[in-house]
Amino acid sequence: MSAAANPRRRALLAGAAALPWAGCTRGAAVAYDGSWLGAAHERGHRLLDASGMRAADVHRHAQVIVVGAGVAGLAAARALLHAGIDDVHVFELEDSAGGNSRGHLLGGMPCPLGAHYLPLPGAQAPELAQLLAELGLSRIEAGKTVYDERHLCHSPQERLFIGGEWVEGLLPPLEALPSAQRVATLQQYQRFHAAVEAAGRDQAFCLPTLRAKPSAIAAELGKLSFAAWLDREGFNAPALRWYLDYCCRDDFGAGASFVSAWAGVHYFASRHGFHAPGDDAADPDAHDPVLTWAQGNAWLTQRLAAPLGERLHTGHLALRVREARHQASLEVWNVAGQRVETWSAGHIVLGLPLFIAARLFDAAPSALQQAAALLHHAPWLVANLHLREPLVDRGGAAPAWDNVLFDSPTLGYVDAMHQSTRPHPGPTVLTAYWALGGASLQELRAQRTRLLEAPWSAWASAVVQELERAHPEIGTRLARVDLMRYGHAMAIPAPGVQGHAALRALIDLRGRVRFAHSDLSGYSVFEEAFFHGHRVGRSIAQESRRA
Ligand SMILES: Cc1cc2nc3c(=O)[nH]c(=O)nc-3n(C[C@H](O)[C@H](O)[C@H](O)COP(=O)(O)OP(=O)(O)OC[C@H]3O[C@@H](n4cnc5c(N)ncnc54)[C@H](O)[C@@H]3O)c2cc1C
Repeated sequence: MSAAANPRRRALLAGAAALPWAGCTRGAAVAYDGSWLGAAHERGHRLLDASGMRAADVHRHAQVIVVGAGVAGLAAARALLHAGIDDVHVFELEDSAGGNSRGHLLGGMPCPLGAHYLPLPGAQAPELAQLLAELGLSRIEAGKTVYDERHLCHSPQERLFIGGEWVEGLLPPLEALPSAQRVATLQQYQRFHAAVEAAGRDQAFCLPTLRAKPSAIAAELGKLSFAAWLDREGFNAPALRWYLDYCCRDDFGAGASFVSAWAGVHYFASRHGFHAPGDDAADPDAHDPVLTWAQGNAWLTQRLAAPLGERLHTGHLALRVREARHQASLEVWNVAGQRVETWSAGHIVLGLPLFIAARLFDAAPSALQQAAALLHHAPWLVANLHLREPLVDRGGAAPAWDNVLFDSPTLGYVDAMHQSTRPHPGPTVLTAYWALGGASLQELRAQRTRLLEAPWSAWASAVVQELERAHPEIGTRLARVDLMRYGHAMAIPAPGVQGHAALRALIDLRGRVRFAHSDLSGYSVFEEAFFHGHRVGRSIAQESRRA
């Protein structure tokens, strides 16, 4: 039985079945409830074994079918509805829409199950800017776009636990480093800033990536790992290397040895920038603000899904896609009804990771087979920790939205109540993130096995143990830990992935079956997923008008 089916199981923090790689917990023996969330991975794995499924006894037709209600699938459906195509049906394996951008309710408080923020869109993402305006997040004042303060991350945005105290921002400050490292580290911070600026000139890096201007530097960076490039360029200061590796794990799910130098530079050049101490924008509160909500980007996906009403079919696992000259067809497993349904449509949009899309075909197109073999997906763990009372504030930088621990295998936590306007701290939910892609394919596979095999209580215990470094009392305040695991969360932009011909071919396909997923960009952020969904939805609508 899955833990989700038995949510009242309790974990003894000190005595929990600790993960083999974790040491003993330091806290007092206290108990908390918890469970895994989301459809058990067994549901998705049924794709591999369809035995026992009853034959199709429901046959229906739609003008367009979208498979997968992640950001990309929902964006495709939105573009179709906007163009006046109402006969759109969306099928989703999970019991709610949103994919990696879903939310949760814990202790009555909304919190994220995955993605939690969106940077403000740049000039190359007008479709996204349009969505944000439509959702009331921005308005035009005196010719300028102004974002609603309530949805911009409140200050303080970030802090780092290093050397036993909290400091502002995430880049390790020189004062926190051994004095012998300070001069060299500052020089490397400044040199890295200059390298990012140089690489990012002339829109060589932007979101969506498809709109970046071709550049020799970007092409070169795409061929080697970020760690290899940093070594080659003499960026070896431990504090800088820790920070860059953290950024890669945070955005791409794997470390600097796994992702390409293109990805490492893109992280900064396309949106965040890199600010060395002394630079005008180095003040953490002067950074470009981000949009965030208590439930993370589920705030956005819930609004994208709402207009679909009964045209959104959750708890439906796509099994088989067939493409013919005049239409396409889909077989789906209706989980609640325990039956296979067959749908036909003028077009089918696959808003799915490409390796899953490939399994839906009797004979997948060769570009799809190549792309599926090219991409490796990082596993992720997201732990929502419900605290009965706030943590002790021990001075140093004030509690922030994003709270990161130096040298931790986790990515730290965000506080779901940070955006609330209540005057006094009280119960809250901390959402801790753990990217498990590691430094190599071998490490990735081992971590995925652990993620799928170890019980929720062992992972909860490992997360709590990490956070105890900064908050020794955390175990005594915990009411419950709900965990979400993603075996194949996001494509890792490894060397050779960016701009690969197979991905380009899938983007350009013009058949009855189209592809729309962040995998097409070789890495996963809201901007890329939304771009691909919108692009495909709009192209189908345009072709339907011409026909
Ligand atoms: C833990 C985590 C944190 C993240 N944080 C951020 C962040 O803060 N900001 C950001 O911009 N991005 C973040 N991301 C990246 C996130 O993946 C993207 O923002 C975006 O949600 C990807 O959307 P997508 O539609 O491309 O893919 P997905 O979310 O993968 O959507 C695919 C959908 O298809 C469904 N599906 C799969 N197989 C089937 C099937 N056979 N039948 C039917 N349905 C199926 C899935 O259940 C899913 O809903 C994060 C990702 C993770 C995992």
